Amino acid sequence: MASKPPKADPVQDAPQVTEPKHAAAGIPAIGHTLRIAQQQMGVKRTALTLLRVNQKDGFDCPGCAWPEPEHRHAAEFCENGAKAVAEEATLRRVTPEFFAAHSVADLATRSGYWLGQQGRLTHPMHLPEGGDHYEPVTWERAFDIIAEEIAALGSPDEALFYTSGRTSNEAAFAYQLFARELGTNNLPDCSNMCHESSGSALSETIGVGKGSVLLEDLYQADLIVVAGQNPGTNHPRMLSALEKAKANGAKIISVNPLPEAGLERFKNPQTPQGMLKGAALNDLFLQIRIGGDQALFRLLNKLILETEGAVDQAFVDEHTHGYEEFATQARAADWDETLAATGLTRAEIDEALRMVLASQRTIVCWAMGLTQHKHSVPTIREVVNFLLLRGNIGRPGAGVCPVRGHSNVQGDRTMGIFERPAPAFLDALEKEFGFAPPREHGYDVVQAIRALRDGDAKVFFAMGGNFVSASPDTDVTEAAMRRARLTVHVSTKLNRSHAITGARALILPTLGRTERDLQGSGEQFVTVEDSMGMVHASRGRLEPASTHLLSEPAIVCRLARRVLGSESRTPWEEFEKDYATIRDRIARVIPGFEDFNARVTDSAGRPGGFTLPHAPRDERRFPTATGKANFTAAPVEYPELPEGRLLLQTLRSHDQYNTTIYGLDDRYRGIKNGRRVVLVNPEDAQKLNLADGSYVDLVGEWKDDVERRAPGFRVVHYPTARGCAAAYYPETNVLVPLDATADTSNTPASKSVVVRLEQSAAD
Ligand code: SF4
Repeated sequence: MASKPPKADPVQDAPQVTEPKHAAAGIPAIGHTLRIAQQQMGVKRTALTLLRVNQKDGFDCPGCAWPEPEHRHAAEFCENGAKAVAEEATLRRVTPEFFAAHSVADLATRSGYWLGQQGRLTHPMHLPEGGDHYEPVTWERAFDIIAEEIAALGSPDEALFYTSGRTSNEAAFAYQLFARELGTNNLPDCSNMCHESSGSALSETIGVGKGSVLLEDLYQADLIVVAGQNPGTNHPRMLSALEKAKANGAKIISVNPLPEAGLERFKNPQTPQGMLKGAALNDLFLQIRIGGDQALFRLLNKLILETEGAVDQAFVDEHTHGYEEFATQARAADWDETLAATGLTRAEIDEALRMVLASQRTIVCWAMGLTQHKHSVPTIREVVNFLLLRGNIGRPGAGVCPVRGHSNVQGDRTMGIFERPAPAFLDALEKEFGFAPPREHGYDVVQAIRALRDGDAKVFFAMGGNFVSASPDTDVTEAAMRRARLTVHVSTKLNRSHAITGARALILPTLGRTERDLQGSGEQFVTVEDSMGMVHASRGRLEPASTHLLSEPAIVCRLARRVLGSESRTPWEEFEKDYATIRDRIARVIPGFEDFNARVTDSAGRPGGFTLPHAPRDERRFPTATGKANFTAAPVEYPELPEGRLLLQTLRSHDQYNTTIYGLDDRYRGIKNGRRVVLVNPEDAQKLNLADGSYVDLVGEWKDDVERRAPGFRVVHYPTARGCAAAYYPETNVLVPLDATADTSNTPASKSVVVRLEQSAAD
C-alpha cells in the first residue's frame, strides 16, 4: 500500500553524520529504490511502472539525460531514476481541497521536500489578485487570463517563457514557435544555469555546442577523465559504462574537490559479482582545489608540448587553428603559481601525464564542477586544447563529453529553446511558417530575473521546473518574481515556485512522461534527445493522475490559439491532434531531423531512434569561424580566497535531483535526516575553530557588499580539498549573487562562492 504524504514538515533538520561510503549502488541501492517506490506507488504499481522505464516501447526516464545502451536490461534504471519515476507515478494527489486547506502564505513556509511529497496536481488552479488561496479554474478561463495579461503588455518582450529540461521535443518546438510568433526571444531555460558554458566554449572551438562522444566511444577509450562531476548520484548508469570501459582496459582519472563513492567503487546491481564485490573505478583521484581545473589542464598541456612526439602534429596541422599562439602561452605558464591554483602536487601531475601519454584515445567528461565558475568558458576551452593536442576529437574512443542534466535539456535547445537563436534557424522558421520571427536576442535566466526585478518583465510563464529554487540569489529572485503581474507554472507536482507568485498566478497541471497521452488522432508519443545526441521515442503507459490534465503540447497549442487568435496561420489544432504533424515541421526546419517520423517509429537503425549528426565526430569537420578546430590562448584564472574564508561549492545530495528533494539523506556522504550541513576539511575547521557538530551561519562575500546569509548549518568535518567547503542547494542559492556569473555564458557561478562561517546564534 502506498503511504500518505507527510502532514507535518519533517525538515526539522537534525542531521546524523557517519563515515562516508567508499562504494556506490549495490544491495543498498536496491533497498532504497524499492522502499521509496513502494511508499509512492505501492507494490503492484512499482513493478508495472519500473519495468517500463527506458525500455524501447516504454517511457524515457524523467531523471537525467544518460543514454540507453544497445542491450536493455529488464531493469534499465538506476536508484535515482526510480525515485524520479516514483515521484511522478505517485498515488498521492494535490487536489483543490488541498489548496483550500493551505494558503499561499502557508505553502511559502514549507520545505521543498514537504511540497514535493504532497503528490500530483489534479486541477488547473488560479490565485486571484489580492487572494491568498489558489482556487479551481477551467482551462478556458486560465487561457483567457493569460491572454488578457499578455494583451495588456506594452511589448511581447515584457513576457518571459522559461523551459525546464524535461519538456519533450514536440512541446519545446511548439513553445518556441508560439513565443516567436508572439514576437519575443525571451526563452530562458535551465541550460542557462548548467551547461551554457559548455555550449559557448564548444561552439567556438569545435563548431558544435554538444558532446562528440557516444556510448561506444566510452567502451573503446584508453583514458577517461571525469572532471567536476559526481556520476554516482547525478548520472548513475554512467557507472555501468565506466565499469565496461575499465573491463576493456581503460584507465580513469577523476578530478574533484570531493572524494565521491561512485568513482571509488561501483557495485553493479545487475550482476551478483558486481553487487557483492563491485569494481574499482578511479585509477587516479586528483583532489583539485575548487576552480583549479583550467590550471590543471594548462599544466598537462604545457608538459605535452614539452614532451618529444607527444603532440599529434599531423592532426594539428591539418585540422586546427591558433596552435602557435596557444603553445607559446602554455609553454610560458608559471609552474609554481599554476600548480598552487590546482591544490595538487607535482607528483600527481606527473602521474596524470604518464596516463595521458599512454593513451591514444582520451575522453574528458564533465558537469557543473566545470561550468558554474566565472572562468568556466576558458576552462572548457583549455579542455578542448588538451584533446586537440593529441588529436582526440573525431576518433573512436575519444572526444568531449559534457554530461547533461535534465532528460531533454539538450533536445530543448536543439528545438530552438534559446534566447540567442542562430539567424539560420530563424530564417528556416520564417520560410516554414510565413511570419517574421524577432531577431533581437532575448533574456537568459539571469537577465530574466533582472527584468522582473526592474519591472521590465511582467508575465512569467514556466514550462515545468522550479524557477525560484533553481535560480541564484534567492532573496532577489523571489522579490523579483513577486513584482510580476502574472506567474504561470505548467507542472506535475507542487514546488516552491507555486508559493512565490506575481499579483495573480496560475498552476496548469500537465501529464507526466510516464502517462498515456490520448489526443484527437489517438495515442501519442513524444521524443527526447539524450546527452550524446541520440533522439528516441517515449511512450507513456500509465493512466493519467487526473482527467483534468493536459499534455504539454496541448497546453501550448491551446494557449497559442487563444493568444494569437485567427491571425496565426500555424496549424495549432492539427499539432495538438497529432504530434506527428509537429515532427514533420521539425524535419523541415532543423537539420538532422529529416524523415523524423519514419526514423523514430520503425527503429530500423538504432533502437527506437537515431543519432544526430556531429561534424567534428563524424567527419573531423569543424564548422567554426575559422573552419578549423580552434586552440585558445587565454590566461589561467582561478578564484582568490581571502584569509579566514572558504570557497563553497553548492551541490546535490544523493536524495535529490536538481531542486527535487526525494529524501533527507545523502547516503554516500554519511549524512542522514538533514540538509543544512556544510562539509569542511578538518584542518580548515581546526584553523577556524569549528568543532564537528557545531552550528554556523554561512555568509557570502562578494564585491557588492550585500550580506547574503544562510543560517544554521551543522559543521561536518569532511575530506574536502583544503580551503574548499560544500553545501546543498537550493538552501545555499541565497549565497550566490545574481551578477556573479561566468564570462561569456552568464551561467551563475554556483560552484565557487567565497564564504565566512560565523558561529550560529543558535549554537
Ligand atoms: S542514469 Fe539518469 S536517465 Fe538513467 S535511470 Fe538513472 S536518472 Fe534515469
